[in-house]
Amino acid sequence: MLENQLLKIAQDFGSPVYVYDAEKIESQYKRLTNAFKNVKHLKINYAVKALSNISILKLFNSLGSGIDTVSIQEVQLGLVAGFLPEQIIFTPNGVSLTEIEEAAKLGVKINIDNLSILEQFGTKHPKTPVCIRINPHVMAGGNANISVGHIDSKFGISIHQIPHILRIVENTKMTINGIHMHTGSDILDIEVFLYASEILFETAKQFKNLDFIDFGSGFKVPYKQGDIETNIEELGEKLSSKFNAFCKEYGKDLTLAFEPGKFLVSESGSFLTKVNAIKQTTSTVFAQVDSGFNHLIRPMFYGSHHDIVNISNPKGRERFYTVVGYICETDTFGNNRRIAEINEGDVLCFKNAGAYCFSMASNYNSRFRPAEVLWYNNRAHLIRKRETFEDILNNQVEIDFASKKEKQLVK
Ligand SMILES: *Cc1c(COP(=O)(O)O)cnc(C)c1O
Repeated sequence: MLENQLLKIAQDFGSPVYVYDAEKIESQYKRLTNAFKNVKHLKINYAVKALSNISILKLFNSLGSGIDTVSIQEVQLGLVAGFLPEQIIFTPNGVSLTEIEEAAKLGVKINIDNLSILEQFGTKHPKTPVCIRINPHVMAGGNANISVGHIDSKFGISIHQIPHILRIVENTKMTINGIHMHTGSDILDIEVFLYASEILFETAKQFKNLDFIDFGSGFKVPYKQGDIETNIEELGEKLSSKFNAFCKEYGKDLTLAFEPGKFLVSESGSFLTKVNAIKQTTSTVFAQVDSGFNHLIRPMFYGSHHDIVNISNPKGRERFYTVVGYICETDTFGNNRRIAEINEGDVLCFKNAGAYCFSMASNYNSRFRPAEVLWYNNRAHLIRKRETFEDILNNQVEIDFASKKEKQLVK
């Protein structure tokens, strides 16, 4: 999208506002499917938690994608967006057996990552096939917060516990229809991914009724100039040939599945904020925007980098700024950034704001969550209204201390 188109959206819809470019989402989807064109059955299940707006889900539906969900509410959102139950996979962690049963009842694919739950589910519902989430114990990337394959991770069933899985399957007569892994975001190295896939193939051989193998996600996208990104084309070539060889050996053409979030939506997103004030201190110049970690928490939560561009004055002379929010807490978006000269009232654009940005937004400081706009077919479409004060009051119950009665504020 062009900077003047973004600026026009900030003027028309107000700020702060999230903007997503449908064309970018589509091109990422096609890039991924194209990289795996040599696989007979490929299924991309978009990870809803990255960006869960219904219109985004419908866009993925129109592209032929399925969805990966981590809560019963995400399953329900998917159904509302028009996905068929069989296009939805439920991959929760740490949820109750009841929630898994609820999802199974809706007819979605079930992915279980816990031996205790597997045994209980298999005993009660031996006729419902399930996929199992394996932990191959492969470290992806260097950050322990986003590497879920290591030995003490809470995700997946350890490959060292395969004998136990097999015993549960034998005892309950349940069917295992898929093998899954998700080693966490930020796979830097294709070799690491391929190494984990070998482990998955070895595991898969022990299950005779598989329909699919799900390689999860963790594809890295560039957040700033010089960042390494996963070479999807190279991965596609190498993994496809390994997968096809495996299918031959297994004696069945299985489906190769992926469930990317970040790769599909991160770069499509821009978050537009307005500069409320410039503040000079003895050591720095702050640009204070009409947002904070209530709207975009990644920089403070994970130390993530989001490029920041002044779209009101793109040709201005570059100066150094520390971009902060309006929350009554430290909420630094970017420290000591070189940005085209900022004046109060200018609109700053945060890049890579598609994944884990709006979906992690909150009402902290009793602020409204931003509006969302989808740029589609050369036009801006409002896909979520900005919240109003009524949303802040909604569900709150007021006690009248004089009459000692309760009153719902919004009916
Ligand atoms: C979050 C998640 C994904 C998506 O990860 P990205 O890094 O956004 O691609 C995929 N699968 C599961 C099970 C997840 O929890």
